Amino acid sequence: MTHLSVPIAAKNLDQAARQIKAARAAGAEMLELRTDYLENLSTDLVKSLVAAAKSTGRKQLPIIATCRDIRQGAAIDYPLRLRLDVLTAALRAGVEFIDVEYENFLLTDSRERIARAISESTKARLIISAHNFEAKFDNIGKLYRRIQAAYPAAIPKLIYSANHINDCFEAFDLLRGTGGDRIVFCMGEAGLISRIIAKKLNSFVTFASIDENAATAPGQLTCRLLKELYRYDSIGPETELYGVIGSPIAHSLSPAIHNACFDDIGVDKLYLPLLVEGGQHEFDRFMKNVLTRPRLNFKGFSVTIPHKRNALGYTIAGRGAVEPLAERIGAVNTLLIGQDGKLSAYNTDYAGAMEAITSALGPKAKLKDLPVAVIGAGGVARAIVAALRDADAQIRIYNRTIERGRKLAAEFNCDFSPLDDLPDIDAKLIINCTSIGMHPYASATPLPKKYIRKDMVVFDTVYNPPQTLLLKQAKQKKAKTIDGLSMFVNQAAAQFKLFTQKQPNTKLMRKTVCNSLSRR
Ligand code: NAP
Repeated sequence: MTHLSVPIAAKNLDQAARQIKAARAAGAEMLELRTDYLENLSTDLVKSLVAAAKSTGRKQLPIIATCRDIRQGAAIDYPLRLRLDVLTAALRAGVEFIDVEYENFLLTDSRERIARAISESTKARLIISAHNFEAKFDNIGKLYRRIQAAYPAAIPKLIYSANHINDCFEAFDLLRGTGGDRIVFCMGEAGLISRIIAKKLNSFVTFASIDENAATAPGQLTCRLLKELYRYDSIGPETELYGVIGSPIAHSLSPAIHNACFDDIGVDKLYLPLLVEGGQHEFDRFMKNVLTRPRLNFKGFSVTIPHKRNALGYTIAGRGAVEPLAERIGAVNTLLIGQDGKLSAYNTDYAGAMEAITSALGPKAKLKDLPVAVIGAGGVARAIVAALRDADAQIRIYNRTIERGRKLAAEFNCDFSPLDDLPDIDAKLIINCTSIGMHPYASATPLPKKYIRKDMVVFDTVYNPPQTLLLKQAKQKKAKTIDGLSMFVNQAAAQFKLFTQKQPNTKLMRKTVCNSLSRR
């Protein structure tokens, strides 16, 4: 069983009382009293803190008392002797767990004092912790065994910074390869997923903060995000894992929409943000890490910038199945892992964009020979150009980097112009496939208002904000508009069907995206 523990990191008792109340309201299942945050620390102060934690709320929560060493992330540098006094006082006041750093536990005096204090308590247990704020441990398995040997009844706690998502797999292996109570996860943005799937892998504790300002370690999520966005309460050992692979990924709305729809149809699936920094090499390592650990139960991925071509390359190299459309577009945005561990690759941007265009233009709209201007020549442009070529539209690609634009135009037998030629634009459908106008640069537009005409249809693939400056100005010119949200929801809906073989609630998808954007 995994306990969701919320750190109480207060300077004084008043602040602590407020935090304890807030932690309980946020859904804490355990409290960690970080006594090293208290000013003028004393044993009496800690006894009062424990009493306050025990008397708040109807049901008592188990308590961990921690007084961290400055070398392992303390807020205030208190001497070892005082820290041990505080922990033994907390035990006498009735806490269920005390947390002592492994390196301090090895000191003979500390070990004897702690072992004696623990043996005097009928229920309390010792957590022996090791932290590495820089990188992975040299040998996490060996460290785990040493901690166990030092005090077999202790709960080993091993926490390290992941500098890349690929660093997390050692933590997962340790959790999978060991039984009993132990606490293992990674810090930092690259380690974020380990805090969530700690529950699936049965870590004894995972930590979450009351709010963004109260995090006591890098990468710590808030209780609200963990519970509302990442379906914490429904995570179990059999939960199937999905996620969006990209870099950067923190801004992605895919976890919000997929998790909301998994919840909607009540399936045991969880969708994670998978920050895979680097290029093909790092992508390949991530996929290998996942595919060689089938018991982690990863089943599928969305793929975004900069890995859409890497996903194609990896699938082909591994003799997976690439749908012909994705191969022709030259980009993959969806991967599935089959029962046999084989990959299959798809592109749902094509259908997502086409659906957005045809539903806005109406079923009778003729795309054949329609003059279309596609601004941009990246991944999204590729999918849209392929879709419109299949519909026999007349496409002219405009791009900043001439070579890239020319290459795409040649591949799909289209025309090309540099961005300088936009004043001469003479198309009926204008599609922005660049990131111009995207948050936080929402005051930018790829096409000045004076070049927009009433008889044009303007489609902006940017969906954050949903109403870009380009779309606002097109509306002012009374042109028809298509927003990026429609395409985003359509491509996500197609992915959802691949992930679940079920129709998603697209209204819920759109509402979730709008709510998430308005909260930012
Ligand atoms: P990408 O492969 O990185 O391509 C980016 C394109 O934008 C390139 O053509 C690039 O030109 C151009 N560009 C970027 N900054 C520019 C600037 N300051 N001035 C002129 N051109 C600039 O990205 P992508 O995957 O195609 O995504 C592009 C945009 O599509 C995203 O920003 C996102 O808003 C949107 N998108 C929408 C959906 C949806 O479902 N609605 C899905 C994915 C993406 P160069 O070739 O010169 O670099």
